[in-house]
Amino acid sequence: MLIDIGHLRELSYVKEEKGYVCVGALTRHHDLANSLVAPRECAGLAHVAGQIGDPQVRHRGTIGGSIAHGDPASDLPRRCSPSAARSWSKDRTGLERSTRTTSFSVSSRWP
Ligand SMILES: Cc1cc2nc3c(=O)[nH]c(=O)nc-3n(C[C@H](O)[C@H](O)[C@H](O)COP(=O)(O)OP(=O)(O)OC[C@H]3O[C@@H](n4cnc5c(N)ncnc54)[C@H](O)[C@@H]3O)c2cc1C
Repeated sequence: MLIDIGHLRELSYVKEEKGYVCVGALTRHHDLANSLVAPRECAGLAHVAGQIGDPQVRHRGTIGGSIAHGDPASDLPRRCSPSAARSWSKDRTGLERSTRTTSFSVSSRWP
């Protein structure tokens, strides 16, 4: 079964919360690069998001897809690597957990 999650707008946001910059999994590269918060608070990440592929890719691709895909050559996971970036995920039972983004693509494989 293929489920299109692309229309879950509540998963698309860039906001500050409790001293962190929070980016929703379905935030598109274009929206990250042009948000109010990211260029000010994490300029490197915003800059990288604005350089990915071409305009079509930046308007369709998401940070969540990029990190979940786990391609070591991808720009956004590489930009998150040296930082303290963390990724939050939920399993099918609703259990939530947080891992360092550096190890997300390995640790997100549920047993
Ligand atoms: C022409 C072209 C040029 C590109 N150039 C670059 C580049 O210069 N730099 C770069 O870094 N990337 C580049 N990319 C990749 C681009 O950043 C993609 O957007 C990225 O790979 C993720 O795509 P997506 O959001 O469409 O995710 P998808 O391709 O839809 O998903 C990727 C994987 O992640 C899973 N997934 C997606 N969202 C979630 C979620 N919320 N939770 C859990 N799993 C999820 C999917 O099931 C799938 O297995 C390019 C892609 C193309 C087609």
